Amino acid sequence: PGPVLTFGETMVALRGSGPLKLGGTMAVSVAGAESNVAIGLARLGHSVRWAGAVGDDEAGRLVLRTLRAEAVDVSAAAVDAGAPTGLLLFEPRLPQATRVHYYRSGSAGSRLSPETVERAFATAPPRLVHLTGITPALGPGPRAAAERALCLAREHGSVVCLDVNFRSRLWSAAVAAEVLRAWAPRVDVLIASDDELPLALPEGAGADRSARAEWLLASGVAEVVVKLGADGALVRTADGQTHRPARPVRAVDPVGAGDAFVAGYLSALLDGAGPAACLERGVTTGAFAVAAHGDWEGAPTRAELPLLAAESGTVLR
Ligand code: ATP
Repeated sequence: PGPVLTFGETMVALRGSGPLKLGGTMAVSVAGAESNVAIGLARLGHSVRWAGAVGDDEAGRLVLRTLRAEAVDVSAAAVDAGAPTGLLLFEPRLPQATRVHYYRSGSAGSRLSPETVERAFATAPPRLVHLTGITPALGPGPRAAAERALCLAREHGSVVCLDVNFRSRLWSAAVAAEVLRAWAPRVDVLIASDDELPLALPEGAGADRSARAEWLLASGVAEVVVKLGADGALVRTADGQTHRPARPVRAVDPVGAGDAFVAGYLSALLDGAGPAACLERGVTTGAFAVAAHGDWEGAPTRAELPLLAAESGTVLR
């Protein structure tokens, strides 16, 4: 079977330790919803390809080097000499509140083109394509790239997963709904937070969570997955609804929990597991993400998955 294919904008991420305006030191890493999922899947042993665009600059080389080091295939990724790699700054303002500042307009990622996606399909058609609602919000090129992926996925029989991932700073709910609603019938696994579900539906469709999920199932989605933060997650299919509570863990950083959950859920799906086992792995990888600093750094390998059940104070010698 072919690899998992995902693409989108991955930026250099600088993480401060206090109020940004006071200066100080920052830790350098990379961040992007789709590459977080790619790394999560690669750590769990799956074959994954990331096909985004970076600038022809040191920041872009850091993005590609990091993904390569995590065993993610970047051979189809684009290097755009005409635009810089995007940047984001994390400002932990309070223990419970982090501000994120983006420097991404005009970035290489916002100029991603359908040709890059075509290149990614050319060598080995993917078994599964993972899209997020961030990519079409970045500009006409990335939107066309994602729509090309939807067409090619249908041609090649690839499973399509969409994480709605609404970013209000990039586009309005009205425009997002217009795009995502048209995509929904071509999606097999639709993942969203509770408040994001209406964005994949016609206005006013579905009075509550159950009715919205049913509406999506009727339009052709096979699995509707709802992320519920510290309340875990649920999945609704034609066979009914299953819920898994979150795994108890000492949460230190909520950023990246959603992407880690998606990686766990898709990992079990690729293993051929049913919805309950997919949820179980999703809440496990989600818990690993909130227990560690960084977007993807804490993602577990397959051998590490049972560690979450270890008692406080466990030392592994
Ligand atoms: P983000 O956008 O911050 O990545 P999200 O809104 O997409 O997050 P969440 O629902 O917050 O996603 O989290 C995804 C999953 O991670 C949840 O379904 C849950 O299993 C796990 N999770 C989130 N918060 C916690 C927590 N405090 N403790 C344990 N598990 C958690």
